[in-house]
Amino acid sequence: MSSTVLSQAPILAKYSDLPQNGKVIAEYVWIDGTNGLRTKGRTLDKKPTSIDELPEWNFDGSSTEQAPGHDSDIYLRPVAMYADPFRRGDNILVLAETYNSDGTPNKKNHRAAASKLFEAHKDEEIWFGIEQEYTLFDQYGDVYGWPKGGFPGPQGPYYCGVGTGKVYARDVIEAHYKACLYAGINVSGINAEVMPSQWEFQVGPNLGISMGDELWMARYVLERVAEDFGVKVSFHPKPLQGDWNGAGCHTNVSTKAMRTKGGMADIEAAIEKLSKRHLEHIGVYGEDNDKRLTGKHETASISQFSYGVANRGCSIRIPRSVSKDGYGYFEDRRPASNIDPYLVTGIMVETVCGPVDGVDMVSEAARE
Ligand code: ADP
Ligand code: MN
Ligand code: MN
Ligand code: MN
Repeated sequence: MSSTVLSQAPILAKYSDLPQNGKVIAEYVWIDGTNGLRTKGRTLDKKPTSIDELPEWNFDGSSTEQAPGHDSDIYLRPVAMYADPFRRGDNILVLAETYNSDGTPNKKNHRAAASKLFEAHKDEEIWFGIEQEYTLFDQYGDVYGWPKGGFPGPQGPYYCGVGTGKVYARDVIEAHYKACLYAGINVSGINAEVMPSQWEFQVGPNLGISMGDELWMARYVLERVAEDFGVKVSFHPKPLQGDWNGAGCHTNVSTKAMRTKGGMADIEAAIEKLSKRHLEHIGVYGEDNDKRLTGKHETASISQFSYGVANRGCSIRIPRSVSKDGYGYFEDRRPASNIDPYLVTGIMVETVCGPVDGVDMVSEAARE
């Protein structure tokens, strides 16, 4: 038997409804030093009505690869809050940015820099929609639901699949979808992916910085739901070698001008700018993305920029409907499933709308 302790949901339910004597629990969530998530909870005297009412907090950054032991306090500054689908009631999830003791953003706080770009370009009303792909593994480290010591049949029936043997872990995905909607996260859809036990959810369209906020919180909710099922979530862009699809975070983008009649000219201008910064973008589009962007499995080669209408083998795809209408949005297919969305949306606005003094997303990504 496995030593993994699954959550005992029916037992927990006995306690979940207990009144809290007017107190509210706030679970603070932040990005750690390994591009993962950490959280801790605290009690508030009442439900905050705005984010400014939430106290700054701190944690031991030496335990999360975010600070040296001799100067380990890292500060948590709340930036967004959501209804807590796990504790319900007035309880909340709080997304927090991390700051060092000298007041500078922590090395993994890329939200601070991206916010400056969005603030400078707020009149352009840039929207994003990110398609988060991910893969489920069981507690033994095998792909969830795959035959022990073997493989399922080749890819084909699984994408948007229906029926036993063609779809895996739908219960996990349903729970995640509902929990996100309850939280107030703008999940726009879900679908089973090409590789069995690989799934996708989409968040968006979201304005500017809220894209990164809600994608991170949707990931948090997924990790929590997966705990209940004893399932592991992998955001690795190529979890399995061989003839199995990788996992990406296709990033759909539009400015107000692109969404307006005649916007195709703005889309083309953006693609022209993107073509000149291909390698800079690849540099912030996730680790191990070279294993995924091979030119096979609906990807373009990592070394070459390309674009096309309705072409899923390109770096950038213009959807057929957008090409027909003459306005809308475009899809950047390059980002990997393990991106920090603040880096990706940040470099996108930097390239498409223009740089801002004192911010450079390429060096931001490399900051230690
Ligand atoms: P695909 O056909 O590539 O699988 P999906 O339907 O999975 O596309 O995802 C499309 C994403 O694009 C969704 O998150 C959606 O909200 C987003 N989107 C739609 N319109 C826009 C827009 N004008 N600007 C930015 N994102 C958009
Ligand atoms: Mn999709
Ligand atoms: Mn997909
Ligand atoms: Mn896509």
